[in-house]
Amino acid sequence: LPAAGVHQLTDADVAARLRPPGSGDDKYTQGVVGVVAGSSTYPGAAVLCTGAALRARPGLVRYAGTAAAGVRAAWPETIVTEGRPADAGRVQAWVVGPGLGTDDDARSVLAEVLATDLPVLVDADALTMAAQQPDLVRRRAAPTVLTPHDREFARFGAEVGGDRVGAARRLAADLGAVVLLKGDATVVAAPEGTAYVNATGTPWLATAGTGDVLSGLTGALLATGLPAAEAAAVGAHVHGRAGQLAAEEGPLIASDLVRCLPATLARLR
Ligand code: AMP
Ligand code: MG
Repeated sequence: LPAAGVHQLTDADVAARLRPPGSGDDKYTQGVVGVVAGSSTYPGAAVLCTGAALRARPGLVRYAGTAAAGVRAAWPETIVTEGRPADAGRVQAWVVGPGLGTDDDARSVLAEVLATDLPVLVDADALTMAAQQPDLVRRRAAPTVLTPHDREFARFGAEVGGDRVGAARRLAADLGAVVLLKGDATVVAAPEGTAYVNATGTPWLATAGTGDVLSGLTGALLATGLPAAEAAAVGAHVHGRAGQLAAEEGPLIASDLVRCLPATLARLR
């Protein structure tokens, strides 16, 4: 059981936070998420992240980056630009980092996204760069969600240790960001102390690309207007359930999670 003051979402809690479209909705009222991910070295991260964002079913996914051709081929529903984030068109939340690299261009697009007044989810290579310039995160007024695994967490100069909730809470308070500390025991902490421990998942998730799926999925939830800590906790829960469902078929790879997301969402009650 979680410690006092630490929440644990159930399937029903998560289902209650996912709003199906109504007759008055159009694609813009269901959330527009922007994905900045991938590079010539790691185009696959952009494909996985964008696919998970699409399958979380916001109204629209926009992609900006150098893996544009691969994303366009894999996901024709995506509006793609090879240009900078500002060229992508209007979005309601950004996901930045999977496969992005850490060269000067990557640093510059991360700074551009963090300078917006929109919610931003920071993952993977963007975490590595943000850890070197934490003030880029601290001075944001809009919500930021960081999704480190233990080694990425340590780059912020804070060891995880045995108390994952405490460690996530301390970094969240220091940076003024929601911290989703992932691993076999995933926890979420908000700057003011609200915390969640995740109840779903399977060790089969320990494989390449599953984190890219988590960030795309959670970024799309941010774009639908969920408060940042809830988006993170709901994202972790759904990701774990998708892993459990995919693992029923056999050993999973990250693409299986994307494919299983619709059935995962339909099963939440
Ligand atoms: P990444 O390290 O960025 O690829 O993300 C890995 C994803 O797999 C995260 O969502 C982790 O929570 C999950 N994961 C990794 N190892 C395990 C494990 N042993 N048990 C459950 N989930 C895991
Ligand atoms: Mg990762």
